[in-house]
Amino acid sequence: MVADPVAPGGPVAPGTGWPGDLATAATPVASSAAEVRTLAVGSADLTELTARQSVCRACPRLVSWREEVAATRRKSFRDERYWGRPIPGWGDQAASILIVGLAPAAHGGNRTGRIFTGDRSGDFLFAALHRCGLATLPTSTSAGDGQRLIGVRMAAAVGCAPPENKPTPRERDECAPWLAAELRLIAPTLRVVVCLGGFAWQALWPVLAQAGYPAPRPRPAFKHGAEATVFSGDGVRLLVLGCFHPSQQNTFTGRVTADMVDAVLARARTYAAESSPAAEPNVPIATKSHISRPIA
Ligand code: SF4
Repeated sequence: MVADPVAPGGPVAPGTGWPGDLATAATPVASSAAEVRTLAVGSADLTELTARQSVCRACPRLVSWREEVAATRRKSFRDERYWGRPIPGWGDQAASILIVGLAPAAHGGNRTGRIFTGDRSGDFLFAALHRCGLATLPTSTSAGDGQRLIGVRMAAAVGCAPPENKPTPRERDECAPWLAAELRLIAPTLRVVVCLGGFAWQALWPVLAQAGYPAPRPRPAFKHGAEATVFSGDGVRLLVLGCFHPSQQNTFTGRVTADMVDAVLARARTYAAESSPAAEPNVPIATKSHISRPIA
């Protein structure tokens, strides 16, 4: 938590000391879809990509919303400074598992500056990650809380908090190059993608294609425990898992339980361990992406 009784409203300026902020005043800012593509594709590493996405201003509606929320704040957080900028990917730079969510929450990631941090979905998810040995702490409260992911990165299909948690298809498509670049940069170690919710599942397939993984045909349907396999141009196999989103509504109604999320994360962890470059030195060359059996 960044407590500041005289916290000014509005977004955090790049390079002013927010924990984990990799951008500076010199970081180039994307102001259009074309500039997103150029800056994402041209990012040489995750540090550069993260910095560039964190200052992106390509979607006028989302920029306006995220900054308005940061300026007005929720009553219970009125003494905190809000991040108010895009939420880039975060976690282990040599991750074998990538967790993809929908978009940051207005008073969660948009406040704390870190994905799935500072809201109830994150509480549920990080407790599960910790139980599965994929996070060092069972909670995720702020960007400076010392939390660390183990072999895992997280990213959102849409980097900015949308009104009513509903990004438009155009906003989803404009943000896709950031996620595709994330996938491309961690491809050497990446073996599993876990999609939290149907929106992330649908958004992932064109992103995978941009990153060099042709999607299966027909596209696999989303359900909890759904599995699909895709292959990179080099024949490296990537397992895609579906998981119901741990939203407050889903967890309160019992649509998704801790056991259900644990089962998906355990499957991801086991698969990643068995298919890591060290465990599988001679990766078989495959010719076709396909849908595989779901989790029992
Ligand atoms: S949603 Fe993505 S593309 Fe749009 S402004 Fe945010 S980071 Fe940029």
